[in-house]
Amino acid sequence: MQASGQTVTHDIVIVGGGLVGASLGCALAPLIERYGWKVAIIEAAPLPAKSLDEAWQPSFDARASAIAEGSAQRFRQLGVWEAMQTEATPIKRIHISERGRLGATRLNADELGVDALGHVIPNAWMGRVLHQRLNALPLEWHCPAKVDNITPTPQGHDLMLSDGSRLHGALTVLADGGRSGLKEQLGIGSRREAYQQTALIAHVGVSQPHQGVAYERFTQAGPIALLPLPGQTMELIWTHSTGHEQARLDLSDGDFLAQLQTAFGDRVGRFTRVGQRHSYPLTLITAEEPVRPGLAVLGNAAHALHPVAGQGFNLALRGVMDLVEALEKGELAKRPLGDMTTLQAFERQRAQDRANVIRFSDGLIRLFGMNLPFLPHARAAGLVGLNIIGPLRKGLARRAMGLER
Ligand SMILES: Cc1cc2nc3c(=O)[nH]c(=O)nc-3n(C[C@H](O)[C@H](O)[C@H](O)COP(=O)(O)OP(=O)(O)OC[C@H]3O[C@@H](n4cnc5c(N)ncnc54)[C@H](O)[C@@H]3O)c2cc1C
Repeated sequence: MQASGQTVTHDIVIVGGGLVGASLGCALAPLIERYGWKVAIIEAAPLPAKSLDEAWQPSFDARASAIAEGSAQRFRQLGVWEAMQTEATPIKRIHISERGRLGATRLNADELGVDALGHVIPNAWMGRVLHQRLNALPLEWHCPAKVDNITPTPQGHDLMLSDGSRLHGALTVLADGGRSGLKEQLGIGSRREAYQQTALIAHVGVSQPHQGVAYERFTQAGPIALLPLPGQTMELIWTHSTGHEQARLDLSDGDFLAQLQTAFGDRVGRFTRVGQRHSYPLTLITAEEPVRPGLAVLGNAAHALHPVAGQGFNLALRGVMDLVEALEKGELAKRPLGDMTTLQAFERQRAQDRANVIRFSDGLIRLFGMNLPFLPHARAAGLVGLNIIGPLRKGLARRAMGLER
């Protein structure tokens, strides 16, 4: 860190060292080595100073994410998959059904010729592995430090940090999760569409081995997803109409488990235990200008999605890889970092992928959230049909695996 008052110039400044900012730092490693780029990452929250060698004690409550097979391949490219995998639970099958209706779709890893359709990994472990990798790279870390101000200049952006540092980035990447107010400071608007839904997340114990099956069950009150975790534990993502979740957050454990059993049925046996419950209001948010001269917006800052299809981080990681590829092409074409030709090429590639994923997750929500009399039959027919029509189901599987854009 430099004395306050001096401005230090960097080729790339990454605002936010969460899953997306940290992945970008790792993905830039070969280019830092090849082109000697000077890169800084600024992260507001203090990092838990743990190395991979320190004992990992996964808590029953630790949040976890479904990582598609495509993302596992990308983590392999970044050299972090081996460490990630040690705490990953493979998803062997995905079971999609609707409560009270016939019809279910089953996506099966064996049938599709892959080891796993995806992997469930604790977010804290992913963070630890990525930060461990970053520690080995010649990057400048400002942590804990918050970017308080960002100002465009003809050559990039000036940033003022809460620790008194001033940085200049030829290219600044906003990977701040979208809630810090920096997009607004720059006058970048966001499209918001509130789903009027809130996800209730908790870990639950189940009486039967889950055998690596992930469940997506659509009920009248909203979708319920269960992801496999080590042992007989699963991560529950239970979507409620906003306002209805509070009653469930307030229930005793016993009453909560009884209501979950009624809503989900007995496919995983009895629900035996529930951990801390958290709630997340669900809004589809997309940044109106994901790129500007000298600026790219990534991750949740660019797109916050409904978690029903577990696609948010998977989509963001494809964005990370595409940005790095575009930057290398720009460098080879001798364009300055932050040049709009490079950033527009990147954004053209992202726009289609983003639209497809939003259509996919949003479509699921709207289809299963509507309460029209004929729809349940159409949905059931759709699920049965999907099971029969191999290519469509394989298409769905490839999208769920992040292998399809
Ligand atoms: C309930 C739920 C379940 C989900 N499940 C899945 C799933 O199964 N699979 C999947 O792919 N995706 C899932 N997602 C989406 C996934 O969690 C997000 O896509 C991902 O966390 C986005 O990471 P990010 O780094 O962009 O943002 P964040 O995780 O919000 O990180 C932003 C970072 O920036 C830092 N920061 C903020 N402001 C500043 C500032 N001014 N200066 C410096 N630092 C700053 C913050 O401290 C933070 O560390 C889920 C989301 C939800 C809500």
